[in-house]
Amino acid sequence: MNIKHHPDDATLLAFAAGSLGEAASVVVASHLAWCPACRATVRCAERLGGTLIDGLETEPVSAGILDRCLSALDQAPSGPAPAPRAVDDPALPAPLARRLGHPMSQIRWKRVAPGIQVHDLDLSPSARGRLSLIRVTNGHGVPAHGHSGSEITLVLSGSYTDRFGRFEPGDVADLDPEIEHDLAVDSKEPCVCLIAMDAPIRFKGVLARLMQPFMGF
Ligand SMILES: [Zn+2]
Repeated sequence: MNIKHHPDDATLLAFAAGSLGEAASVVVASHLAWCPACRATVRCAERLGGTLIDGLETEPVSAGILDRCLSALDQAPSGPAPAPRAVDDPALPAPLARRLGHPMSQIRWKRVAPGIQVHDLDLSPSARGRLSLIRVTNGHGVPAHGHSGSEITLVLSGSYTDRFGRFEPGDVADLDPEIEHDLAVDSKEPCVCLIAMDAPIRFKGVLARLMQPFMGF
């Protein structure tokens, strides 16, 4: 696997610190399963974080703070992350395979536009955003769109090209909210990607906007 596009350092640091959202964390963990370079970065960030915490001076806290913390946790929206299920699909990175719970061949794709199918993955009830697999066949693409929030995409099979280059299996597109792009699949086989989105994407142009309700994004 020849990975050329990686998550931003800020995304890897947030992952190492445990502050990345659940959906994006599944995408980053799946990339890490395939990318030794980013694994090294995350290990380094985790060690750095540990050193910083060790160096903090402790201060006395007021009595009852533990009770207040526990009470706040009780009131927070909660819900367990979907239980990981053992699955044997060597074509998938392990974190995605566990979250999916079955091989890719058993996915019931939802057709949202000609040549485009999606499948949403379960997130815990309190998680923000959306985690989806998208499957686009050759000769099709996703029209120009922007984002209300960040979007991080991992290519699982096939390939696509947008104005940032060509993205192949293992590559990640880590896009800020202000970035707009359209993409075209250029592999013979369908391009399958795992996408985490903070907020709905915004399509540009009349035809593309007509797709919006069908995409459900
Ligand atoms: Zn990487």
